[in-house]
Amino acid sequence: MKEIIIATKNAGKAEEFRSFFAKYDIEAISLLDLTEPVEDIEETGTTFEENAALKAEQIAEKLSTPVLADDSGLMVDALNGRPGIFSARYAGEPKDDQANLEKVLRELERSANRQARFVCVLAVAIPGEETFFKRGVCEGSLIMEPRGGNGFGYDPIFVPDGFTTTMAQLSSDEKNNISHRSDAIMKLEEWIKQI
Ligand code: IMP
Repeated sequence: MKEIIIATKNAGKAEEFRSFFAKYDIEAISLLDLTEPVEDIEETGTTFEENAALKAEQIAEKLSTPVLADDSGLMVDALNGRPGIFSARYAGEPKDDQANLEKVLRELERSANRQARFVCVLAVAIPGEETFFKRGVCEGSLIMEPRGGNGFGYDPIFVPDGFTTTMAQLSSDEKNNISHRSDAIMKLEEWIKQI
């Protein structure tokens, strides 16, 4: 079976990538699966693209193999696009999904505008070649109280457009059909087929 390294230590994302790539008979190996530990890469970029490239390029150089990285987050219209690239640690260190979503709900307490979107940028770094990117989006709105126990991150407060349930109330297959990550991966299909 062919393999691809995914530069993430986020178990939720790793599982989603595993299930996407299984459809193409490719094994997605995350940094959690490697026997040699890989240090955390500092996300010092100012855009999703910069952060995804930092992760993909540094791991590709270290392992001398093609690497795919994603940088993703929630962009809320009433918060001028925040938390955006700061989604993972919006409520500070250590990373805490529950504290993050509570902070967003607090900031939106008086806002009638609940429009938001998940964004995912994939960077593919191949040693000796120029890194390329694909961007995926999932539009939706934020509810007042968390609902559902699936997924991760902001899923319990995000209702995708056309749905009445939150992302955390969908099965993983349902989420994977509509998510920002699947949208980006679909745009990568031509490259995936050549692996
Ligand atoms: P990254 O690891 O720097 O890309 O941070 C991504 C963060 O954005 C995660 O820790 C979550 O807080 C949020 N996020 C990204 N994708 C999703 C998703 O599919 N559902 C819920 N939250 C997400």
